[in-house]
Amino acid sequence: MKPSILIIYTGGTIGMRTDASTGALVPFDFSGIYDEFPALRRLNVEIEVITMSPIIDSSNVTPENWCRLAELIRENYNKYDGFVVLHGTDTMSYTASAMSFMLENLAKPVIFTGSQIPIDVLRTDGRENLITAIEIAAEKRNGYAVVPEVALYFQNCLFRANRTTKFSAEQLNAFSSFNYPPLAEVGVNIQYNYPYIAPAAGDPNEPLRVATTLETGVSVVKIFPGISPQIFHAMLSIYGLQAVVLETYGAGNAPTSDWFCDVLREVIARGVIVVNVTQCSDGIVAMDLYETGQRLKEIGVICGFDSTTEAAVTKLMYILGQKLPHDETVKLLRKAIKGEITTQIVAQN
Ligand code: ASP
Repeated sequence: MKPSILIIYTGGTIGMRTDASTGALVPFDFSGIYDEFPALRRLNVEIEVITMSPIIDSSNVTPENWCRLAELIRENYNKYDGFVVLHGTDTMSYTASAMSFMLENLAKPVIFTGSQIPIDVLRTDGRENLITAIEIAAEKRNGYAVVPEVALYFQNCLFRANRTTKFSAEQLNAFSSFNYPPLAEVGVNIQYNYPYIAPAAGDPNEPLRVATTLETGVSVVKIFPGISPQIFHAMLSIYGLQAVVLETYGAGNAPTSDWFCDVLREVIARGVIVVNVTQCSDGIVAMDLYETGQRLKEIGVICGFDSTTEAAVTKLMYILGQKLPHDETVKLLRKAIKGEITTQIVAQN
């Protein structure tokens, strides 16, 4: 039997085409996908398409959209072998990271992709991204999905979704996974890097569990030389704030000045969780390395290891949404729950 794939179009450049009469970009009707890409018939895959309503530019995405997407995958989980989510590139890493946490016992591929150039433009990158994403979502070995996790395919590379970042507004290889190797590399053939692909988190025949209670009292604070005590204090004193992703320098370093540490001490004493991630794209927070990192550890800042900001934000929303006791929340933050941080490094810190 042919594998069946559900394509979910959420919006973004990949689904845009130029209206011949007005010259404006208008949404492409993916229900006519076989007419547009007859080559898809040669894939030996059954494809169905759902277009989410309304389709959105991904800059407008919210946790409500994530919940709707997760529910849609859950409702269709038993009917399909895999899912391809077409999404705008701007916030794709956030949505895909959120899905990696929200789809709890996932055992089927959920492959995100999009494009930098609209699909009807001759030089589009969307066609190849779409076709290969479908192929990966349909790939089985011994009857089981080869990639039973949430992943992001872009320009010849398949990445674990919660390790990705959009790093280029120009290049066609717009995404990178700086701290985790690609799950597959695509040339003439698709070369899967099997040891890096996570095993299924559940049984493919069991219903999918989705978490749709996300806590949005989360903020990202990027420090910079010259940040004033008033501004830093104001950013961390927002009413309703439950957690902060603190983007620090290098290996997790921040100023050691008393005013800086006092602000952090005060918010942590209020019960706000502060997670330390680095502003560098590549590398890991090691808070024992320098005095500037050790001070943060003493104050109670939680090490974010090699997490991306996208993964740290969405993981916090997901975990805080579970309303667990404080120490359990902290324990989960220090653990790789969906491969979002490197576990060997966790053991050392
Ligand atoms: N602004 C678009 C979006 O993220 C860009 C894209 O799709 O590449 O929805």
